[in-house]
Amino acid sequence: MTTILIVDDEAKIRTLVTAYLEAEGFTVYSADDGQGALLMFRRYRPALIVLDIMLPEIDGLDVLRHIRRESEAYVLLLTAKSDEVDRVIGLSIGADDYLTKPFRRTDLLQAIQTRLSKHNEQQVKHGEQYEAINEAFQAEREKRLLTSRIVAMFSHDFRNPLASILSSSELLKRYEDRLSPERKRHHLDRIGGSVHLLIQMLDEMLAVAEMEHGKLSPQPQSVDIAAFVEDIVEEFRLIHGDQYGFTLKDTFSGIIETDPRLLRQILVNLISNAVKYSPRGSMVTIHLEGSGSGLEFSVIDQGMGMTEEEQARIFEAFYRADNAKNIKGTGLGLTIVMESVQLCGGEIKVTSTVGHGSNFVVKLPLNG
Ligand code: ADP
Repeated sequence: MTTILIVDDEAKIRTLVTAYLEAEGFTVYSADDGQGALLMFRRYRPALIVLDIMLPEIDGLDVLRHIRRESEAYVLLLTAKSDEVDRVIGLSIGADDYLTKPFRRTDLLQAIQTRLSKHNEQQVKHGEQYEAINEAFQAEREKRLLTSRIVAMFSHDFRNPLASILSSSELLKRYEDRLSPERKRHHLDRIGGSVHLLIQMLDEMLAVAEMEHGKLSPQPQSVDIAAFVEDIVEEFRLIHGDQYGFTLKDTFSGIIETDPRLLRQILVNLISNAVKYSPRGSMVTIHLEGSGSGLEFSVIDQGMGMTEEEQARIFEAFYRADNAKNIKGTGLGLTIVMESVQLCGGEIKVTSTVGHGSNFVVKLPLNG
């Protein structure tokens, strides 16, 4: 409810204006001199003041000066025709508008309604601006949090593989002539594995940084999709072929327009996880299907699987399920996958059973 203060020494005007405004649903207080006006103003903090300039003792302009020191309430001056100079002074010291006496009921109501609708508009605008600023602030805060967590995590996690490289290379150097060929091979493998892990961590860190800064935008190129997927699966066979089986079932081929970098990001992360979270000797199956309008591929493993609660959270940054306790990782791979899938305008779904395995299905739209 809007509160209005009417200040006039003429009782007739006060009564009339009060009646007009109360009939319109406003709460109205009135004062007949400057002293009373300031008292009422401080007590009720009205949103709008209808203020006569000609008041006994403290005149309307002095009242206005006091009000302006304390508030930005809307002040509508009431002036006589001959008060031109006072009116100009009034406007220059902060009155918002004026009405010349005698005025009609409709003039007064119009002046007040115009003011109130402007005020409401402004409030809505301020509300919208506040929300936009708040949203941007929250997003920025989350970004900073994510960045500082990434920096903290990587600076911590970089130490282990670096320490392994250092100790293995020291041992190889110091005991070169005493180490058996198997032990030498073990240390070389350890160095190779650590370097691999470091490269993966660096790649993930770069991908997340690019995602955060909105740099990872899709750059479609013509891709021979069957050959592209076969190449990736072949890379996995070369590295893990002695411990895992890889089956590729592709029923779709042709040249498509897609971003190979994003596609690679998706496939490599999903197949790496299928290997990581499955026991040695098990099979990873990759399906590639499609039609003119869309591409669908699945990565299916026979590994540890996850509970439904865990499945609901695996795309969150840094989330790692219970099954990952003794397995190295950052909890960022699937976040990158999700972001890449979304950048391609697609979707990803997972079904999984603890102890039996998981199936990640990615659907990507194809344009043209
Ligand atoms: P990371 O593998 O580095 O921990 P990801 O974001 O790739 O991070 O995966 C998040 C978590 O989801 C993993 O820690 C693991 O618990 C679970 N997860 C992902 N892929 C599989 C899978 N194929 N089978 C079982 N669990 C998986």
